[in-house]
Amino acid sequence: MPPETFEFQVEARQLLQMMIHSIYSNKDVFLRELISNASDALDKLRLEALRDEALDADVSDLHIDIETDAEARTLTVRDNGVGMSYEEVVQLIGTIANSGTAAFLKELREAKDAASAEGLIGQFGVGFYASFMVADEVTLLTRRAGEDSGTRWTSGGEGTYTIERVEDLPQGTSVTLRLKPVDTEDQLFDYTSPWKIREIVKRYSDFITWPIRMAPEVAGPKDGEQPEDGAGSTPPGPETINSMKALWARSKDEVGDDEYHELYKHISHDWHDPLETIRMQAEGTFEYQALLFLPSRAPQDLFTRGHKRGVQLYVKRVFIMDDCEALMPEYLRFVKGVVDAQDLSLNVSREILQQDRQIELMRRRLAKKVLSTVKDMMSARPEDYATFWREFGRVLKEGLLGDFENKDAILAVSSFATTRDKDEQTTLQQYVSRMQEGQQHIYFMTGESRAAIENSPHMEAFREKGLEVLLLTDPVDEVWVEAVPEFDGKQLRSIAKGEADLDTGDEEDGARAEREKRQQEYAELLSWMTKQLADEVKEVRLSSRLTVSPACIVSDTHDVTPALQSMYRAMGQ
Ligand code: ADP
Ligand code: MG
Repeated sequence: MPPETFEFQVEARQLLQMMIHSIYSNKDVFLRELISNASDALDKLRLEALRDEALDADVSDLHIDIETDAEARTLTVRDNGVGMSYEEVVQLIGTIANSGTAAFLKELREAKDAASAEGLIGQFGVGFYASFMVADEVTLLTRRAGEDSGTRWTSGGEGTYTIERVEDLPQGTSVTLRLKPVDTEDQLFDYTSPWKIREIVKRYSDFITWPIRMAPEVAGPKDGEQPEDGAGSTPPGPETINSMKALWARSKDEVGDDEYHELYKHISHDWHDPLETIRMQAEGTFEYQALLFLPSRAPQDLFTRGHKRGVQLYVKRVFIMDDCEALMPEYLRFVKGVVDAQDLSLNVSREILQQDRQIELMRRRLAKKVLSTVKDMMSARPEDYATFWREFGRVLKEGLLGDFENKDAILAVSSFATTRDKDEQTTLQQYVSRMQEGQQHIYFMTGESRAAIENSPHMEAFREKGLEVLLLTDPVDEVWVEAVPEFDGKQLRSIAKGEADLDTGDEEDGARAEREKRQQEYAELLSWMTKQLADEVKEVRLSSRLTVSPACIVSDTHDVTPALQSMYRAMGQ
């Protein structure tokens, strides 16, 4: 079959244009992306071979090779992993399929100018396409493990790419970059310099659990650049240039933050540093190590159905699966990381994990650890906590609906907007500590926005009396307040519901008697009104809560609020 030429989709073309003309300063990361893909491909192959004994694949010597050719100005990254079929190349490389890129493009379309578009490169991992930052032509050769023929994909990044079937390819994938000319001899900018490649691998990919190999150095480095260890005297044969040590298995003080952050970027496909790194170690009957990360930004699809969640599961250093949802509760779906368990079978399936008692215990411990870490962050690094809460608070509060064991821990790290201060949020603990003499309840009101709540007539008496009210504006707030009756022995009370009478203690016996007297006075009017409005309301009654507005509508204590009604409707219930 002759090579077929295809046009990139409009979005892909835009993206490639940016890559090609990128001024993004940290171009080195293209190599991290290629190695990350190669490593994923090796993980996938090992797993497939484990699951499918009939798979005709060689898994005896899985590795990544890097070759440079200064003469031809090329750089090749080759793996003998799972490879891609023709269809997969069309789908995965020809279009922009991965979720990170989709989100990237959405923002790209909204970007106002070239400069802000440029800034986006650093914010999103764009994976394979990052090659075009440094190459003017990229050629990918690949053969899917178990298949006979392979595929060649090649493109200059400018509008079109070609694909053809080719025979006699080794299993796996090789990506060859024809590097753009550089106008300096400086090895610092030369990706054909083995010294430069080693340096990048050490910095970004050292923890990769597969050997990353390079031909040994034969000549010393050019013009007084940093000398290579043992240059000239190394025996022939490829050298492994990464340490391959699983970071979670190394002792804490041996590993720097930078290394953890690179692992985070590899597993999360995020280009930002995480907000927090959490290490855990469990010994005894069920041994495991965990390395968890709290990202610094919420992904775009956190609230879309089918959002991937969960951490990576390893069994004794062997990668088993991505997105292991059995290890993280839904409300911690933003947590990334690795869990390496010693006593599971390599063949363990998602179904088995869902029912495993040890796994459930592990999930509970991981959840507790995440919550206690956030608690620590709250006092030690309030700014980071504020970032965390802004990005993930809405998700975390979902835990109040299902994780009753951790309800208090979740409440303890939750912050809310309040009438007390426009800019500062408050915790429930802080609210309680400020409660007025005689105040028995924690008051809140739910609504669409701060302004909507503050303008509500329900607010009047509370404002008058100087009673603090929590302003809950996330959709999930409507639901969890139903599930959480109290905090610290104080009931949570919606000021928009029937029973939220002011209990500042000033309604002594006299006041009560006064109220009852008035109730009698107006009894006839009230029952007449109730009758007249029977289709609209259940009851008309006197209120002590209004100061300016003549009347307001409240719902029964156990009624569903209007916002909740519309939320249920949206969910099809
Ligand atoms: P991501 O890694 O975030 O999915 P990339 O742009 O880096 O995005 O890669 C797109 C897809 O192409 C990968 O998800 C993978 O399916 C496929 N791919 C890329 N490189 C390789 C490789 N070396 N071997 C097998 N598949 C690959
Ligand atoms: Mg990738």
